Amino acid sequence: MDGHALNDIQATVDADKAHVFHHLFQHAKLRTHDPRIIVEGKGMSVWDQNGREYLDSVSGGVWTVNVGYGRESIANAVRDQLIKINYFAGSVGSIPGAQFAERLTEKTPGLTRLYYVNSGTEANEKAWKMVRQIAHKHHGGKKWKILYRERDYHGSSLAALAACGQHQRADQYGPFPEGFIPVPHCLEYRAQWDVENYGERAADAIEEVILREGPDTVGALCLEPVTAGGGVIVPPKGYWERVQEICKKYDILLHIDEVVCGMGRTGEWFGYQNYGIKPDFVTCAKGVASGYAAIACMLTTDEVFEKFRTDPDDEMSYFRDISTFGGCTAGPAAALENMRIIEDEGLLANTKAMGDYMMSRLQELKEKHKVIGDVRGKGLFCGAELVADRATKEPLAEKLVQSVVASADADGVLIGATARSFKGFNNTLCFSPALIVDQPKIDRIIDAVDRGLAKLA
Ligand code: PMP
Repeated sequence: MDGHALNDIQATVDADKAHVFHHLFQHAKLRTHDPRIIVEGKGMSVWDQNGREYLDSVSGGVWTVNVGYGRESIANAVRDQLIKINYFAGSVGSIPGAQFAERLTEKTPGLTRLYYVNSGTEANEKAWKMVRQIAHKHHGGKKWKILYRERDYHGSSLAALAACGQHQRADQYGPFPEGFIPVPHCLEYRAQWDVENYGERAADAIEEVILREGPDTVGALCLEPVTAGGGVIVPPKGYWERVQEICKKYDILLHIDEVVCGMGRTGEWFGYQNYGIKPDFVTCAKGVASGYAAIACMLTTDEVFEKFRTDPDDEMSYFRDISTFGGCTAGPAAALENMRIIEDEGLLANTKAMGDYMMSRLQELKEKHKVIGDVRGKGLFCGAELVADRATKEPLAEKLVQSVVASADADGVLIGATARSFKGFNNTLCFSPALIVDQPKIDRIIDAVDRGLAKLA
């Protein structure tokens, strides 16, 4: 780290303390602690205001910086584009916008149209607005309900919180828009049914909700391919096949929220591609430009798209929606270069190989530490659920989970833990390193966790 005089740093810390309203942060902590200010990043390392280096195993805190920090080629692509043309409202086209839409949809057979927005929340809202418009126009106002799953998360707006499967994130913000209906989660470790084919059973529970609500009232089912903040939940075998059958049977649009899994996190371009399913909507955000620009998008099929251009004289036939910054060109310019890096550096293959390695190292930790109840993961998206007692599976107390995170932090390794989410569970350590990670870095992450867990004993 260079170029930051100490007095500038203190002034920055003071300004932050006095004026920044941080995300997801209890500001009372600032009475005793300075905020951490991240000053620089390179590869998988970041440096704070004191020049201290951390190995980041959570890609910018929330699974975002898939290609790692300090990518000059992305900065250059954005710079060149901004000098040419930075913005024009999203109802007209741009060169990088057209190019990225073409390049990305090459990776998503069946999903041919891309809608530009700024955040995961917004991408999800756009899909749900389309579901509602289709309901009005094609189903006589029926098929307006949207199903979501316990433990899943889809964003921070009021509609997204209406579809939030982690009630503690939503409880204080009601009342919410109507028509968002929960279906049971599918985490086998915390099984709700004593059956062998758990995946199919958990999917059948969705059908039960559809039948209860009335199939003619249900327009869409929204699911994360691997539940992220709700505890890194990889749906069990047989789940997705049944989900697809159920959607087809009841003419329900399948919306896969790829905000976390999209752009390589699970070892495929998109999480759903691990399971051979055919969604009608896919929303993605974090990895689209790895945090080098604020860009997110919603992908959909020709079939859905055609419903919005059938009748030029009918005000209900086009999608009357805009996202002001969907017209920024920095996003798709960064996204194009981000995608080139993932391809040219073979990062999907690396994700699969390093994901397997990380899972094997986490299994070793599980053998060593009784406090680990379960380890789960897909690609470079892994979790270790901590329990006070393996037999009862009682979740480990939040402050003990946080002590492992703090211990790793003191060792110079940033790890995550699921935010207090479902029925008070806040007990899953999360790992989602950049897709460039190698074995020595994974070993360093695991060693830091090992030390943190040893202190619990
Ligand atoms: N969906 C999922 C699965 C997420 O994890 C998140 C954010 N963590 C969102 C949607 C919301 O994305 P954003 O914060 O960009 O609105």
